[in-house]
Amino acid sequence: MNAVLCYCRAGFENECALELDAVAASHSIKGQSRFDANTAFVAFETSSDERALRDAFVWRDLIFARQCVIAFAHLRDLPRADRLTPILASIESRGELFNDVWTEAPDSDEGKALAPLCKSFGNALIGALRQRGRIDANAPRRLHVFFPKGDTVFLAASDDSTSAPWPLGIPRLKFPREAPSRSTLKLEEAFLVLLSAAERERWLKPGMSAVDLGASPGGWTWQLVHRSIRTTAIDNGPMDRALMQSGIVTHLREDGFRYRPRKAVDWLVCDMVEQPKRIAALIAGWLRDGACRYAMFNLKLPMKKRYDETRACLDIVRAAALDVRARQLFHDREEITAFARAR
Ligand code: SAM
Repeated sequence: MNAVLCYCRAGFENECALELDAVAASHSIKGQSRFDANTAFVAFETSSDERALRDAFVWRDLIFARQCVIAFAHLRDLPRADRLTPILASIESRGELFNDVWTEAPDSDEGKALAPLCKSFGNALIGALRQRGRIDANAPRRLHVFFPKGDTVFLAASDDSTSAPWPLGIPRLKFPREAPSRSTLKLEEAFLVLLSAAERERWLKPGMSAVDLGASPGGWTWQLVHRSIRTTAIDNGPMDRALMQSGIVTHLREDGFRYRPRKAVDWLVCDMVEQPKRIAALIAGWLRDGACRYAMFNLKLPMKKRYDETRACLDIVRAAALDVRARQLFHDREEITAFARAR
């Protein structure tokens, strides 16, 4: 039995499971998602082989999974006095060399309490694997040792092309002191997670133009200004004074649902708190009319049927776009962030 192991935001296990089931169905992979509420992970259990799973379940394409790895063992009732022996035996029996080892616990209350165990056990395991010649920087895959509880572990393998490059799938970003709000990290993470390095270089260039809908106090505008992108900030609320002194921000107190620039801009970003379908229709309108080339926008999810609503909203944007990508970011709460590119 293999499992596709995904880490998600605590409370969004159901959405993550529905998404994994949908991916499996579209690839004719039989299996079932299993999870407990608020555990911050989902395991899609299947008898399909690892190669088929790696082809079908790609972290970049998933919305509710921060990380996606293929588990080859699930060990329960580990003796607390010696977890190392059974875990080493399982890794040895697989016979694979790994380029790195990440010992992780879920991003949940229970998981956070396991951080000291992960640290000390991780060090001991790496030492033991090195001694046995099981670590090789040129090996294709990374080993994940994932402890949902102190006596239970999943052993999983991932390769760089199909998994997130950060432990737990969480990019650790430092809050820039000059930024006017913590939301700034959302847009920074979105650029990092939803665009490749080459795309960031090509699509976020100094001298480009942007509109920020729902901009106050300016956390998202700050990210654009930081990249020397001229920004029109739309919001009835005030903008951060220091940001305005950059000289490349124009603040208009207008309705974000009515405002349109006279000339097309490179970027539309939107963080207005509104019904997600209304935001999706707004973004689709801009893309369809050629008013922007790229859009990054946040969709605040409803309390119920969050997965269905997500799909419906993204379909609205997809009908007007060349490409749509979406993710529940680490800095997203009951919301997701999406990127769309005009045709
Ligand atoms: N992205 C901002 C930042 O990083 O500082 C925070 C935006 S805050 C979550 C949402 C903003 O949307 C509020 O400032 C609110 O005034 C604005 N907003 C809501 N509806 C709007 C509308 N119809 N037109 C313009 N702004 C709107």
